[in-house]
Amino acid sequence: MLSIAVTIKQVPDTQKARFDPKTGTIDRSGTESIMNPDDLHALEMALSIKDRFGAVITAITMGPPHAIDVLDEAYALGVDSCVLVSDPAFAGSDSLVTSKTLSSAICKLGALDIVITGCEAIDGNTGHVGFQLSEYLDMPLITQIHKFDVCDGHAVIERLYGHEYQKIKVEFPFLMAIGKNSNRVRIPRLADINACLDKKIITFSMKDLGGTTMEYGSAGSPTVVIETELFSHKRTREVFSGSPGDKADLLVHKLKKHNILRY
Ligand code: FAD
Repeated sequence: MLSIAVTIKQVPDTQKARFDPKTGTIDRSGTESIMNPDDLHALEMALSIKDRFGAVITAITMGPPHAIDVLDEAYALGVDSCVLVSDPAFAGSDSLVTSKTLSSAICKLGALDIVITGCEAIDGNTGHVGFQLSEYLDMPLITQIHKFDVCDGHAVIERLYGHEYQKIKVEFPFLMAIGKNSNRVRIPRLADINACLDKKIITFSMKDLGGTTMEYGSAGSPTVVIETELFSHKRTREVFSGSPGDKADLLVHKLKKHNILRY
């Protein structure tokens, strides 16, 4: 039976959240929190591996106490256990310290075959955590996964990136970063949502992970944000005229000009 850990992050719903230009941060007050969209795909990857090959899945999140909401959602989807990594000392962690803290928590789960992260969180958007976890956990990281299989005690992974296709054989343990193009996420059943609410959530605090307050949160984080700037994107409607052929040519020309279509 495979043993899998999936990192999931609670994020503000950025469709509704507002950016505070004065502080350079997202104004989270009164904003609904959701599971980071890529992490739903990371969970789906773990659940489909469980369906096909058998696996025990642990979902793990680092955040304030209310981040347990995403763990309840993970239970409803079918994970076997959930861990909340939470301590006031973790506040102000940059991506390096977040990855270090998450890796310490993951190490406490015992031997794992696969660790799965999303590619990118919609609030921080650095895409650092998967790569940094790979360093801290000393596991290779596989990205842009199209298909996953297990054969003779190895994982066989098909990757699609740009116009290239790769089929690779990987030894366990390894880490995968999953984006929204890797799969289609399942929707939990209402009965599963109701059944999950009382399930046990394990909490790891700084005391459980070891170390001092100087290694965590803002004290341990080397990143200094010097300036943030808000860019706005304006949408304009454009109507092409001419024959259908002319209009198609114009559209292709525009898409190439903006690097949306390359060839
Ligand atoms: P990405 O690297 O884009 O995420 C990739 C994947 O990693 C996700 O899909 C998910 O699977 C996993 N992942 C990322 N974060 C988590 C997590 N927390 N738990 C589980 N899985 C995760 N954020 C705060 O919430 N509170 C703060 O006080 C705070 N202070 C900060 C101070 C500084 C100086 C800086 C630079 C950042 C601060 N942040 C804070 C933001 C925080 O560092 C990032 O949100 C975090 O490091 C993850 O980076 P990201 O959002 O870019 O994730």
